[in-house]
Amino acid sequence: PLPTVAIVGRPNVGKSTLFNRLVGKRLALVDDRPGVTRDRREGEAELIGLKFRVVDTAGFEDEDPETLPGRMRQQTEAAVRGADVALFLIDSRAGVTPLDEEIARWLREQDTPVALAANKAEGRAGDSGVLEAFALGFGDPAPISAEHGEGIADLFEALLPHL
Ligand code: GDP
Ligand code: MG
Repeated sequence: PLPTVAIVGRPNVGKSTLFNRLVGKRLALVDDRPGVTRDRREGEAELIGLKFRVVDTAGFEDEDPETLPGRMRQQTEAAVRGADVALFLIDSRAGVTPLDEEIARWLREQDTPVALAANKAEGRAGDSGVLEAFALGFGDPAPISAEHGEGIADLFEALLPHL
């Protein structure tokens, strides 16, 4: 069986955009509105010859109790526990937010290893956010742009030790 990568992070950091780029099909719904990815999505990815399963999660995107946040959080927890590595995505333009820190605390309590990537890093707009992300304690963040397909080599290096 292929190793599994679970993409986790707060709303709008670009998880589904990255999922779509890795899988190469429009399997996950991408939208500006938080919480729009309702279901766990899985697909097969290939990165510089490295094959793995990738899971798009949305469990931290819903704080409204009317929208079953508990169920979504459970789905994310299950995806992370079942994965060989959690790919923790932050938005390098927004920097590290309190919710990023909450997710980081939760990830540290899990047994699944974590690889950190700072998305939206095209151009220079994300430079300070990439630096800030070091403080999360998951090592060197891979600067990437899911939308523009940049940082593939850095992403590969971040994932490789865990796959
Ligand atoms: P999710 O909520 O984490 O799944 O985030 P989405 O994949 O739905 O993306 C949220 C927004 O960020 C969308 O408007 C995307 O087009 C945008 N986005 C995703 N990746 C990038 C990127 O690399 N650069 C920029 N500038 N925007 C991005
Ligand atoms: Mg999404």
